[in-house]
Amino acid sequence: MKHPKVQMLYGTPTNMQDIIVVDSTYQIRITLWDSIVSFVQVDDTCTFENLSVRNFKNETYLTTTKSSKITRTDSIDDPVEFESTAAVPTTIVGTVAAVRITQGFMCKSCTRILQTLLKEGKYNMCTYCKMLQKTANFVSCLTATLNVTSEDEVDEIQTSKLAIFSTQINNFCTLHDQEEFLDDPLKMEEFFLEDTFDFNHVDNIIDSFTVVKKIQKAIPELTEQLCKLVDESKSVATVESSSYSQVSLLVGKTIRHKFTEGTFIGKVISVVPGFGKWYNVTYDGDPAVYVYQLQEDYADGNIEIVVRWYTAHAVAVVTFQFD
Ligand SMILES: [Zn+2]
Repeated sequence: MKHPKVQMLYGTPTNMQDIIVVDSTYQIRITLWDSIVSFVQVDDTCTFENLSVRNFKNETYLTTTKSSKITRTDSIDDPVEFESTAAVPTTIVGTVAAVRITQGFMCKSCTRILQTLLKEGKYNMCTYCKMLQKTANFVSCLTATLNVTSEDEVDEIQTSKLAIFSTQINNFCTLHDQEEFLDDPLKMEEFFLEDTFDFNHVDNIIDSFTVVKKIQKAIPELTEQLCKLVDESKSVATVESSSYSQVSLLVGKTIRHKFTEGTFIGKVISVVPGFGKWYNVTYDGDPAVYVYQLQEDYADGNIEIVVRWYTAHAVAVVTFQFD
């Protein structure tokens, strides 16, 4: 049984969880969706009704649908021995040497993916289910093939061919406020070519990925901040404490910090001793420690607190803001 995670399903974040069930003949994976997640516990015996059969990469598995029903029952006799078949995810840190993005359009009626869509038309007909629908009813789905260059343990350059399916691209763009890429394959391709990424993959199929390189803050900007800090230390006789008990809630938190260059995931380490308004912050993929007056950015809505769950395969990010 894997930890539950959040996947984008038709544009909505939805809980999902993979479990393995065994009976006296066989073992099979079942993907649980939505409210059924966490209903089943390890070693429970259950009856599963109205599951749907899927096949992906030669693995046949089952998935719950809206009409699925699960009930707990008495334990069964002689179940087969469970064999772990889970592939181990591999991480590659590297740059993208070449990329090809393919855009498809998912019909919300039958969930199949059309290769072409008349975007300027008011309506389009799904070539599979023949349903005529508003053009907006078709969801852009990007899939990518990447040639990733990385260095292995002995500094040899390696090239790996990795594939990303639309769910993972969707997840990434939604979590990083880059939804505009989803409708613009060319922009998405350029984005892949510009950064260093941490790709988590199983058999060259990417499960999740994050940007490693962050745009460095310019030295003059840092110098200016340091000067301000020194100036303030001269003019402020005592430690400023107004409303900082409220905002020091930020310490220890993971934040999503918006800059003009983009949004970065960071961690608030501590308040600068003696300067209640100043915080030491580090950002993902960057060893440097930055000093910021987070209160202002927080008040301006440029900081969100992030709750992260690390699971075997994915990082789910949920953000919320205090009023
Ligand atoms: Zn259709």
